[in-house]
Amino acid sequence: MNILLATTEAVPFVKTGGLGDVAGALPNELARRGCQVSVVMPAFRHIYQAGRIIEGVDCYFDVPVGSKSIRGRVLKSTLPGDLVTVYFIDQPTYFDRDHLYGVGNKDYPDNCERFVFFSRAVLELVRTLKLPVDILHVNDWQTGLIPAYLRTEYADSDAHEHIASVMTIHNIAYQGRFWHWDMLLTGLDWSHFNWRELEFYGDINLLKAGIVFADAINTVSPTYAKEIQTPKFGCGLEGVLQSRQDRLRGIINGIDESEWNPTTDPHLAMNYTVGNWRQGKSFCKASLQKELHLSPRLDVPLVGMVGRLVQQKGWHLIIPLLESWLQQSDVQWAILGSGDPAYQGPLMELASKYPGKIGVRIEFSNALAHRIEAGSDIFLMPSQFEPCGLNQLYSLKYGAVPVVHATGGLADTIVDHTPDTAASGTATGFAFSHYSVEDLAGALQRALDVYRNDPAGWGRMVETGMLQDWSWTRSAREYQQLYEDALRWRRGNA
Ligand code: ADP
Repeated sequence: MNILLATTEAVPFVKTGGLGDVAGALPNELARRGCQVSVVMPAFRHIYQAGRIIEGVDCYFDVPVGSKSIRGRVLKSTLPGDLVTVYFIDQPTYFDRDHLYGVGNKDYPDNCERFVFFSRAVLELVRTLKLPVDILHVNDWQTGLIPAYLRTEYADSDAHEHIASVMTIHNIAYQGRFWHWDMLLTGLDWSHFNWRELEFYGDINLLKAGIVFADAINTVSPTYAKEIQTPKFGCGLEGVLQSRQDRLRGIINGIDESEWNPTTDPHLAMNYTVGNWRQGKSFCKASLQKELHLSPRLDVPLVGMVGRLVQQKGWHLIIPLLESWLQQSDVQWAILGSGDPAYQGPLMELASKYPGKIGVRIEFSNALAHRIEAGSDIFLMPSQFEPCGLNQLYSLKYGAVPVVHATGGLADTIVDHTPDTAASGTATGFAFSHYSVEDLAGALQRALDVYRNDPAGWGRMVETGMLQDWSWTRSAREYQQLYEDALRWRRGNA
């Protein structure tokens, strides 16, 4: 099976969130399972810092974007392991910028134009290089137009007509919504500007285009696949998703164990396994305390958090919780985040008010993210909603017991500690259902009670988590099945 995965992020080239992790790891796993896989992504400025060789390909094409014709150039590299070719679409005006999608929380004003160009360029790449493609796997709104083009502009093209498309929704909160005159940029006929296709409350919606036209759709956990069909989580797209529920699956992401594994992780002060985690984590904890200027005390529980500074991740619960807990509790905090300045100020203020008890770093630091997972006893992830979540999976692997809001992928991956799950040895974390500061505090308090009063029970939880298999092998198998179904559905529809 020939698969082309279109994405805007892929580790190690560029990443702002979970999509980058997925697109860096899934293709390699599929290739190991015998598929022919390539990746295509924009040649963002950042890709040159990945330390991989990037070469030019003698391939150029002109892409219609509204009334303009924009030239695309192709570059090439491979994912680590050299099993997967990565094509980059080079167009400096669109992609040679400081950021991927915008500055701070402000999107670039020409984002529609940029990703119309990229989406069409992917299809031109297939044609120009005569790439054999059975499945075009698109990801999030930036590539949402591709399934629409396959069924419209490119429907009669020999190079494209047999291709089945799969759309993965990594986060339905980001939809690529633009004013209706941007229909002109897409080049699609106005007849597609209707409520069943691209139109969304008077605008165009690129994610909706993908959902409507793709042969198969998935999101990144079974619970989130159900949640997004409800008004509470669907962000207005619940009706469209309900209408396509026979084509919609939930597949939990895997973790890239070559990157996230405490046994081999080069970022850690000491590597450890499930056999010596107490020693290893104590060493990593002491080192993290030093790095973040926390008091050097091994007896105090250390709570870690890593994530984008956006409301989704629950910072509006964490900040009030921190304010009271920093005064009252003998707990240390290690916090790493980047994003919305509205959360940066209060976090930095708390850091300067309680030195030795809380360390805050406002930056994107992959190495520190690894060290927080290794050095923390508890990892906090009170996301308002969470399509899959990777950090809680890293936490399991690194023996940092997760405290989570039971939603989306967090509900699917963390087994709450109850008398029953503790007795059967299946508990892996602490979950709360009602979304409030009080319930978050309650879950954290339950965790601390077990940590302090039941070290053997705590150890069992850590080890149960560390021994679980969240590798890509399981997810890749499910994606292969989805691809096969997409091909079958495509043929059925052809
Ligand atoms: P999302 O995709 O919604 O951001 P996930 O938990 O699925 O959330 O994935 C987030 C990924 O980004 C993880 O690999 C996490 O370690 C990483 N990450 C997020 N913020 C930071 C940061 N400030 N520094 C380093 N890594 C970060």
